Amino acid sequence: MYIGVDLGGTKIKIGMVDEEGQIVSSGLIDTDPSHDDKVIMKDMTVEIERLIKQEGMQLQDIKSIGIGVPGLVDYQKGSIIYCTNLSWYNVEAVNYLKEHFKIPVYIENDATVAAYAESLFGSTKEAKDSVFLTIGTGIGGGIIINKQIIRGAHGAGSEIGHTVIGENFYDCNCGRNGCFETLASATAMIKYALHKMNTNAEVSSLQRAYIEKGQLEAKDIFDHAAMGDALSIETVDRTAKYLAIGIANIYNILDPEIIAIGGGVSKAGDSFFDLVRSKVKKMTLVDSDNIKYGEIVRAELGNDAGIIGAAFLSKQA
Ligand SMILES: [Zn+2]
Repeated sequence: MYIGVDLGGTKIKIGMVDEEGQIVSSGLIDTDPSHDDKVIMKDMTVEIERLIKQEGMQLQDIKSIGIGVPGLVDYQKGSIIYCTNLSWYNVEAVNYLKEHFKIPVYIENDATVAAYAESLFGSTKEAKDSVFLTIGTGIGGGIIINKQIIRGAHGAGSEIGHTVIGENFYDCNCGRNGCFETLASATAMIKYALHKMNTNAEVSSLQRAYIEKGQLEAKDIFDHAAMGDALSIETVDRTAKYLAIGIANIYNILDPEIIAIGGGVSKAGDSFFDLVRSKVKKMTLVDSDNIKYGEIVRAELGNDAGIIGAAFLSKQA
């Protein structure tokens, strides 16, 4: 058995995973950001011990623990360099758990962990070379080449969401303008739709829905586009265009066998996937009618990918 930890902004999900990648039991703990990191790490150890006991197991039945972090990690030192959601900086998470449990502990970026899970048990398992994009509030990326995680020389690689792909009307949190995630994430869609509402004289059905609800989600934009609302259609088309530019860049650099898309935007209908595929096809250099090239699919493991990929990090060590 393996333990996988998915560190989130408001919750930490912990799962016990078997050799086949099945989560046999799981638990949740709250991550109150006002708590000291040591308090949250302690809560983590208590929950892991509870799971082991609940399954009638002993510590020696657990081969390793892995942690997926929404932020930058030093996988060699085993520390979290920063995790903005939790306001954690330079937290020695691996050492803490190693000292407590006396078993191997590994750490990795959460999008990379999800990419690894998809490549072991999900949408990209048939491929040696794959890229995973999680598209929600931002865009996270994970690169698997020859079934190995690609982190780069400083562990800071595969930040696909911060590659600049155009010009935008607002800046990215990273301080630059035109990052992939500010042009093709769910947040990007919402910001663009609201921006257009402020500049368009015409009132769209999306705008009426926004006034009624007091907020907007990417799903509303997809729904209103399907109903024929011009502003929504324009927003979806713009998102597909930039998503295609970002994906074509990935193909031009890495030529992976397959790209899997997860996160909230992956719940968009097949028509959105078809739109992105057709745009990517026009942007890539190889004629994809003749060879299998440019395959873009939905990720399969959903929210479980974080736990499963983290659990199996020992296989990458
Ligand atoms: Zn950025």
